[in-house]
Amino acid sequence: MEEKQLLMEKLDRILPKVQKPARYIGGEIGSIVKSPQDVAVRFAFCFPDLYEIGMSHLGMKILYSLINSRPDFWCERVFAPDMDMRDCMKEQGIPLYGLESLEPIKDFDMIGFTLQYELSFTTILDMLDLAGLPVRSSQRKELYPIVIAGGPCACNPEPLADFIDLFVLGEGEEVNLELMDLYKQAKAEGWSKEAFLKAASQIQGIYVPSLYQVAYNPDGTVASITSEEGAPAKVTKRIVADLDCIFYPESFVVPAVEAVHDRAMVEVLRGCARGCRFCQAGFIYRPFREKEPGTLNSYGKALCDSTGYDEISLTSLSTSDYTRLEPLLDTLLDWTEKEKVNLSLPSLRVDNFSDSLAEKITRVRKSGLTFAPEAGTQRIRDVINKNITEEEILRTCTMAFEGGYTSVKLYFMLGLPTETMEDVEGIAQLAQKIVNLYYENPNKPKGKGVNVTVSAAGFVPKPFTPFEFEPQDTIEQFAAKQRHLVESVRTKKISVKYHNNKVSFLEAVLARGDRRLCAAMEQAWRKGCVLEGWDEHFSLETWLETLAECGLDPAFYANRRRSFEEVTPWSHLDYGVTKDFLIRENKKAHGDRTTPNCLLQCSACGASGLYPDGEGRWPCP
Ligand code: SF4
Repeated sequence: MEEKQLLMEKLDRILPKVQKPARYIGGEIGSIVKSPQDVAVRFAFCFPDLYEIGMSHLGMKILYSLINSRPDFWCERVFAPDMDMRDCMKEQGIPLYGLESLEPIKDFDMIGFTLQYELSFTTILDMLDLAGLPVRSSQRKELYPIVIAGGPCACNPEPLADFIDLFVLGEGEEVNLELMDLYKQAKAEGWSKEAFLKAASQIQGIYVPSLYQVAYNPDGTVASITSEEGAPAKVTKRIVADLDCIFYPESFVVPAVEAVHDRAMVEVLRGCARGCRFCQAGFIYRPFREKEPGTLNSYGKALCDSTGYDEISLTSLSTSDYTRLEPLLDTLLDWTEKEKVNLSLPSLRVDNFSDSLAEKITRVRKSGLTFAPEAGTQRIRDVINKNITEEEILRTCTMAFEGGYTSVKLYFMLGLPTETMEDVEGIAQLAQKIVNLYYENPNKPKGKGVNVTVSAAGFVPKPFTPFEFEPQDTIEQFAAKQRHLVESVRTKKISVKYHNNKVSFLEAVLARGDRRLCAAMEQAWRKGCVLEGWDEHFSLETWLETLAECGLDPAFYANRRRSFEEVTPWSHLDYGVTKDFLIRENKKAHGDRTTPNCLLQCSACGASGLYPDGEGRWPCP
């Protein structure tokens, strides 16, 4: 108690000196405070980025409410402090603390990180250090705190293998509670950390990296990955079979500082039926599963009532693929229009954007419209299995312009496999056709021009996708393509934005990295790499220097083509989709051949084998 009092006094002194102090004090509407004496397991849910980013994250909201729904568990939120606060905390000796109790997380039972993007990895080390804990798992000897991590980047967790005690693969709702129950037993019975980790490795979806040995070939590729102490040779991710029966929060913590996405979020489906070959989320979240419209309507209502939000976002990887979207919108619009609650659909596809759907969404929202054609030419769209035609893109834009939209944002990728400069020009040509369409529309709003924004990201090959074998373009190749894109644009109505090539390069190194990168990760962090998702803190130069010191070649990870036979650093992890399927899809990509989406035909990717009945089912939806 004294320690807490001291911490609060120090906070009183430093908070007036930092920007956005409300990030650091908790007490928001919806936050859950319990008495430490009444709970058996305390959990710190850590988001390795700033408050406004973390507070937008749906997974955190779900797990926070789920864990807190158990009277014997208490979950608190922890975000990375911004640099000014970090400096003050170090200066004043304030350890990283939970926002609900304002108590140091080093005294909690479990510390869980969510791995949303590779550039947050060094911030995890920084948060452990700020907490007053050794960053290496082997140096944390006690049962508490156990440091765990989950989320999309856990599908290749090897660059973090030396720091994290265990990884949770797949959907967390069931497995997190099983893990916490096991921890509760371990704590009550006084198990060692080793005994706990060994027992945890027997739960499906739990990967304990210290129980696996990795051997390398002379050329640096992985020779073998061997499990020890009875840990399974392959760790299979978890899924929730029936989404209508699973927990969903009725309330969110309402951010005290404006978050990136500050609204009621209703998750309509999981997985994606599409199979775009570059998209990791599209494969690692398979199989495709939907919730019932009635369930979703009640979530939306409950969330608006409890939080006062006036916007509901229907979220998923591809919300317009929801097979009952129009009935759902009808049900929601029944009350949202009366209560002046906006609906937003962040992930729309152009090929199933019907007139009546456009009419429904334009009844509540008339700002910009966002689509992701990903590539400018049909050939590359076939390579990546985007399964949309130019005609569909233009038809959708026509409908949007007729519905009153005056700006369109289009997402593309540069550096996709087999891409040529002609394909790059195709992006500018497609944007030009959309501009022309606007001016051909007789009903365009008077006196208003159109604005087409082309946002071009660098392609990053990711594990568990058909492109996991592909080399990434070099930084120089990316730069040449970006220049060519800008030069190909002929009007000011089109603005081009592109990502930092250096960031895409480091993402590619880390995404397909092995555990030898852990040494470089620690050293890069010790040299000051932290909050690297923010341009002002990102330094590829520091990483290059560090990788060289560690005897590692970044091009080996980013720019090298892998053979289909190579043992990947993630080959002991099973996300449902089989390697045979990924190879088939890769070969089809190089033959410009497409694969139909799961709603039309099953392509036997293997994900249906994840259902607990073991038999698999098709169609997955
Ligand atoms: S098993 Fe078939 S339907 Fe299910 S996700 Fe895979 S390809 Fe799609």
